[in-house]
Amino acid sequence: MQFERRRFDNRRDRGFNFNRAPREMHKVICSECEQECEVPFKPTEGRPVFCRECFAKKRRF
Ligand SMILES: [Zn+2]
Repeated sequence: MQFERRRFDNRRDRGFNFNRAPREMHKVICSECEQECEVPFKPTEGRPVFCRECFAKKRRF
């Protein structure tokens, strides 16, 4: 799973600069808390997407 690996590569918030395009926000439903949120990357179909809070929570483990 993509996020699992990124967690080790990027200890801080460098995770979203894989393309240098200006930040385009996409509305998604968080896979964890099921709230609508926006993420600065294009969601991939079939992949879980997390809001900022849940994503931060996951990175702690
Ligand atoms: Zn969430």
